[in-house]
Amino acid sequence: MSAKVLDGRELAGALKEELRGRVGAIGSELGLAIVRGGGDEAAAVYARRLEKLCEQLGVGSRVVELPATSGTAGAIALVEELNADPAVTGILVQLPLPQDLEATAIVAAVDPLKDVDGVNPQNAGRLLLGLPSLVPATPLAVMELLRRYDVPLEGRRAAVVGRSNITGKPIALLLLREHATVTVCHSRTPDLGAVTREAELVVAAVGRAGLVTAQMVAPGAVVVDVGTNVVDGKLTGDVDYDGVAEVAGAVSPVPGGVGPLTNLMLVRNLLDAAALRAPA
Ligand code: NAP
Repeated sequence: MSAKVLDGRELAGALKEELRGRVGAIGSELGLAIVRGGGDEAAAVYARRLEKLCEQLGVGSRVVELPATSGTAGAIALVEELNADPAVTGILVQLPLPQDLEATAIVAAVDPLKDVDGVNPQNAGRLLLGLPSLVPATPLAVMELLRRYDVPLEGRRAAVVGRSNITGKPIALLLLREHATVTVCHSRTPDLGAVTREAELVVAAVGRAGLVTAQMVAPGAVVVDVGTNVVDGKLTGDVDYDGVAEVAGAVSPVPGGVGPLTNLMLVRNLLDAAALRAPA
């Protein structure tokens, strides 16, 4: 058996056009501020890619570097300036921040209505309560991939591997919202394969290349790979793609699955943030 490919690249083109239409229709300037802690080249590449996407979609964006000596108080002051700036519709604080900064406090300072990566505790809490909120972009990308490939979720058994605040937990909550029966696995889960083999949907969000093997997947299951790992200079996911594709009904590749949709979801959040702030 060879699994269907859940192809994020293929979906990205249509989604980009939809967002371009929404940007055109909104009739006001959109501005994204990307707050960076500096240092990490991978984060710099990501920020440049996001800026390029914004440019393609007609959305203003700028990178705001945290001065190396600003400390947590300085970083919070900078976030508060952005909160008060009417030209800034959305704020993304790139994580991880340097270790000497208290990331939790800095993220909590972002105005919840400008929090386009849904990391502020207010948005996280609203997601937990099932209230409208801005939701982290990667979990939204997972849901968009599943929705656009018509993967049924209601009543289905789903195993989410990973319980971080930015991927695993929000993915589990979004699946729960769609009435899946969700099990969340993590590093202390004994016999991970016994849990994932029971699932009709497996979402891997761990950061360990090849963790999910063919033996851990039920025949016909849908497998979504959120992981991004670099092995021998090559980007690879958490799923042993070739092996799993022999067993699964559908599987998302890395690269080319969830990744291409993630930044588009961030821009969608920016549009949603603008709508939340618009006078009724
Ligand atoms: P993270 O904060 O390091 O969390 C990893 C999670 O995996 C933790 O909950 C950890 O369990 C669990 N885990 C570790 N080893 C495990 C094992 N052997 N078996 C089962 N669970 C295990 O990572 P993250 O930020 O959520 O990112 C996860 C992956 O997604 C990374 O590869 C990251 O690069 C990628 N990512 C991709 C995108 C995208 O757009 N495609 C965006 C964000 C992140 P404990 O909680 O017990 O430690």
